[in-house]
Amino acid sequence: MENTPASNFLQSIIAEDISSGRVQEVVTRFPPEPNGYLHIGHAKSISVNFGLAEANGGRCNLRFDDTNPEKESQEFIDSILEDVRWLGYQWDGEVRYASSYFQQLYAWAMFLVEDGKAYVCDLNAEQAREYRGTLTEPGRNSPYRERSVAENLDLLARMKAGEFDEGSKVLRAKIDMAAPNMNMRDPILYRIRKVAHHQTGTDWVIYPTYDFAHGQEDAIEGVTHSVCTLEFADHRPLYEWFISNLPVSSQPRQFEFGRLNASYTVTSKRKLKRLVDDGMVQGWDDPRMPTIAGMRRRGFTPAAIRHFCDMIGTTRGEGVVDIAMLEHAIRDDLNENAPRGMCVLNPLKVVLSNYPEAQLEQLSVPAHPSREDLGQRILPFTRELYIDAEDFREEANKKFKRLVLGKRVRLRNAYVIEADGVELDEAGNIVAVLAHLIPGTLGNDPEDGVKPKGVIQWVSAREGKCATVRLYDRLFNDVAPDKGESDFMDLINPDSLQVVTQAWIEPALAQAAAEQNFQFERVGYFVADRYDHSTDAPVFNRTISLRDTWNSG
Ligand code: ATP
Ligand code: MG
Repeated sequence: MENTPASNFLQSIIAEDISSGRVQEVVTRFPPEPNGYLHIGHAKSISVNFGLAEANGGRCNLRFDDTNPEKESQEFIDSILEDVRWLGYQWDGEVRYASSYFQQLYAWAMFLVEDGKAYVCDLNAEQAREYRGTLTEPGRNSPYRERSVAENLDLLARMKAGEFDEGSKVLRAKIDMAAPNMNMRDPILYRIRKVAHHQTGTDWVIYPTYDFAHGQEDAIEGVTHSVCTLEFADHRPLYEWFISNLPVSSQPRQFEFGRLNASYTVTSKRKLKRLVDDGMVQGWDDPRMPTIAGMRRRGFTPAAIRHFCDMIGTTRGEGVVDIAMLEHAIRDDLNENAPRGMCVLNPLKVVLSNYPEAQLEQLSVPAHPSREDLGQRILPFTRELYIDAEDFREEANKKFKRLVLGKRVRLRNAYVIEADGVELDEAGNIVAVLAHLIPGTLGNDPEDGVKPKGVIQWVSAREGKCATVRLYDRLFNDVAPDKGESDFMDLINPDSLQVVTQAWIEPALAQAAAEQNFQFERVGYFVADRYDHSTDAPVFNRTISLRDTWNSG
């Protein structure tokens, strides 16, 4: 079922805001923290935020919520910008940074202090936890809560000047230590952190908390609809408290939707980081990772990812999406758009006794069965070919619709051949199949009455190229790797990568540009590796099998 923008609840809210005149121009934003690579869940958030702006003639900002310098880096910033662009979205104006509002946020912190609504607190972390109370018991006021405005201003200025050690003081809002919502129990606004920041260098030794920064950043940018995921619903009263107690120029309103969780997948930057740091994958963009960079390298397309994000809809509840839906979206896209090619993963030589050694036919065949706009490709045919070892048996029953001694099979896009015998090595292993071709059978659908048992792929031994093919499969064997009793690291699929170094491909495939998608006929969908592929040393990644092998019993 197609989920048009009109059918999601956020669009209904926006439509009403526009028709009531409450909002003139819709402004949304995508606010990643640059502490990891974006994953499929972020793709959903990107598609929601950019999609709502697009559908309503509004704007969508890209803002880095960079309030936590220890975990952030320029590498992550660069990857996030690249991923958003690759998905096909363009943010409004310049890239924005929370850190460029640090001066304003600090001024607002002083404003609260002057207003008697914030104070410097000297409780250490353990004491603060104890004073905070629990879900069932109210907290207690900090002994530092009644400091004078003058003392608080002085201490805050000295925190900023670097006079105090990390952890020795924090700035807190003065709200209500008995509030049932724990977020309202005098939350921390500023911490001392003597670390350099990737954007502001050593300008600051105190940093605002995410909670103190987030809503005000939206207000500064005139964001009208602050869309986020459900875990922030409990923080909304606090954001509203800041907005109503500060002289901000606009009033963003927050709306929450359910996070995207997918089966067989972990979507938490922290967990993905563990996979990278522990060497379970080859990096954030390993094709098995559910990161946008990983999916890209795997051969997923922006169109398929966007289609998937639309298809699953946007709701107020949490749910788990079957990852097979994403895989279906990829298959649909590639089936329709990817040119075809032939590749033999496990080459077995076939020698055609009635085809002259010196002869070479350059067959012109369609690149795609129904997309004439994709043109033709040249497929060389010679006396010696490779077929897949699995496609030959000396004897077989009727169910085996491939090459058998004394039987016929069609070589895809070329001739029907018949197997006559085998050539063995000293150990008795088959090293070649001896066969002959049936004259007059060239093409995929001749009317010559010759009935081959089936159709198999093949590649000219002389004209084809050797290739490395990486066969990727799901990274986890478990349907819910981060939900069960076991550590998700113990649920990794040991067969998630198998590398074939001696595959044989038709020459046109070696010419592929990096990141070009193909269907290798009868084998699966593949992409020329973004970094490692070259004409001299072709490297292909398996994007997805032709059929869903996980759900077909
Ligand atoms: P993670 O939990 O993976 O660390 P995060 O929420 O901390 O993710 P941010 O960089 O803070 O990551 O997220 C940027 C935006 O993406 C936020 O608005 C967040 O709500 C949204 N987002 C993150 N994960 C998902 C998800 N699984 N589904 C939908 N939106 C998500
Ligand atoms: Mg976060």
